[in-house]
Amino acid sequence: MKRQIVWIGRDVELPLIGCIAFGVIDRGTNLLQIRPASGCNLCCPFCSVDEGPCSKTRVTQYFVEVDYLLEYAKALARMKNSENLEMHIDGCGEPSIHPNLSDLVQGLSEIENVKIISMQTNGTLLNEREVEELSEAGLTRFNLTINALDDELAKILAGTERYDVHKVVRIAEAISESSSDLLIAPVWMEGVNDLEILKIIEFAKEIGAGKNFPPLGIQNYLIHRMGRKMKGIRQVPWRFFYEKLRKLEEEHKIKLILSPKDFGIEKISQVLPLAFRKFEKTTVKIEAPGWMKGEALGVARDRVITVVDAENIEMGSKVKVRILSNKHNIYVARAV
Ligand code: SF4
Repeated sequence: MKRQIVWIGRDVELPLIGCIAFGVIDRGTNLLQIRPASGCNLCCPFCSVDEGPCSKTRVTQYFVEVDYLLEYAKALARMKNSENLEMHIDGCGEPSIHPNLSDLVQGLSEIENVKIISMQTNGTLLNEREVEELSEAGLTRFNLTINALDDELAKILAGTERYDVHKVVRIAEAISESSSDLLIAPVWMEGVNDLEILKIIEFAKEIGAGKNFPPLGIQNYLIHRMGRKMKGIRQVPWRFFYEKLRKLEEEHKIKLILSPKDFGIEKISQVLPLAFRKFEKTTVKIEAPGWMKGEALGVARDRVITVVDAENIEMGSKVKVRILSNKHNIYVARAV
């Protein structure tokens, strides 16, 4: 599906708080999520956010200018007033799709109370030189997704013939040789990549992943309402999932059951206050197309609000809406 691309900078009337697809998210801990872009180059058949070129629901791709994103990151870092802040670069998609990532990392590393900068990536858009650049810019840890080492299965799980697991393996090796840490984060799908998970555990040990953090972050395959689903594959109950990890921990002599404490993440009291109550009515100015088909982005009180069922709402118009959800300052509303 053809996408509309929206570049967000100081000259665009879009704040960087309020939309799940870009900007900064504060979920009440000493970690801030930094989202420089939406969109992805892969088409994983289990993608929880239905991203990538094969998406049937995502119609807009956002890129945020680094200086503008850093302004927000600095302001929130000041507000958090924690000496142990982590800036976690992630997104609804693949963050390395953004062309100026090392400038972002460099800027984040200059914020006084930022102690850790981590990034989620599928690794396919990086080369060894970029790994080095990001590492030198101050990236503490790469969270690299590898779901299978078998060439054919890896292509199936990435949803594209172009996926080259050998390249991603080289990237993993380059990260572990750099001054950054490496955490390999496969998604375990029962009956699909069980054997691959065993191989990935041994691979992580072999290349020395996890210098200061756990080497692996095995994730459970979850079925999301708005995501893509693997036909015939069930979501394993959490109890069963942890039993499986416990067994693998014993067999491979490696830590696999993780908690926020392993990453130094803790709840802190300084949280960005909500700008709207649930069910509150407000008037927004429509400034950009929404991430999903039929949505639009409105702005009020320095927050972005995703307006659903907005097919007939014109750009630039003012619309009265009711807030449907406000969790973590991510707003969804409908016109009234
Ligand atoms: S790499 Fe992540 S965002 Fe991209 S398609 Fe796969 S699961 Fe979705």
